[in-house]
Amino acid sequence: MEQQKLHWPQLTEGYAALESTRVREIACSNYSVSVQFNPKRISSTGADLDVKTIQERKCFLCLENLPEPQKGILYRDEFLLLCNPAPIFPRHFTFSSIYHIPQELESSLSVLLDLTKDLSPDYTVFYNGPKSGASAPDHLHFQVSPRRAIPIECDAVDMRRRKRLYYQDHVAGCVLMDYGRTAFIVESTDRLRLLKFLENILEAWKNVLGTSEEPKVNILCSYQEDLWRLIMLPRRKHRPDVYFLKGDGRVLISPAAVDIGGFVVTPLEKDFLRMDAKLIESIFVEVTEPPELIEKILEKLQ
Ligand SMILES: [Zn+2]
Repeated sequence: MEQQKLHWPQLTEGYAALESTRVREIACSNYSVSVQFNPKRISSTGADLDVKTIQERKCFLCLENLPEPQKGILYRDEFLLLCNPAPIFPRHFTFSSIYHIPQELESSLSVLLDLTKDLSPDYTVFYNGPKSGASAPDHLHFQVSPRRAIPIECDAVDMRRRKRLYYQDHVAGCVLMDYGRTAFIVESTDRLRLLKFLENILEAWKNVLGTSEEPKVNILCSYQEDLWRLIMLPRRKHRPDVYFLKGDGRVLISPAAVDIGGFVVTPLEKDFLRMDAKLIESIFVEVTEPPELIEKILEKLQ
């Protein structure tokens, strides 16, 4: 990364801008969030993601479109680890397929687990579904942040918050109680059984929703002391209604794993200043699924 900061002006600028971002803490009911004012995120937060725009734009993750000074590290001949030019964290990477294939979870679960293990214990890998905050829904990618930079990672290991709903075949599942949005935590030390469980969960989930499409979800994945932990955040909506308002009422927030995880990014100063507990709580409830969903999915599994 240091090398890229020296040779890629956009990245130098991105990290210089990160230095001057502002963060404030907001206490919501039973949880806290950090809100970051980060103007560099405007292109991602404000991205137009309709099919036509996506088809017509040059994909910024495709190899042939990467800026000349941007270099990556090849991973297992299929993925490239790249520095994110608009960082939210002091170390923020994009892990992108070398092929232009759609953002899709089921076929990339094993690479998610393997990458997370290979980057452990210092990093968390996160996934934003194509309709759940990903700004390149047409190009398979994950992102990488420093471990525990996102508040939910700490809340997820607080045993007083947890309610166990599942334990079978070396895979455990629980939810966080009274958390203002639904967080399903899955843990296992057994890679194969975990993969099987995750595949089954996706099938049962589609079943509950009555769709063949990938369920909307954000996932944060970490690995410590032989244990994988996935925090799954089921989504109902890609963006909240306030995002689409005209004029002063508009709030430019496009929630993805980081935001729903409790680190809310606002590219506009006016939104940073007006953000309060009431607004955050209502956005979280609006864009995430209710807690009953997890119980329904687990019932389908039995
Ligand atoms: Zn692409």
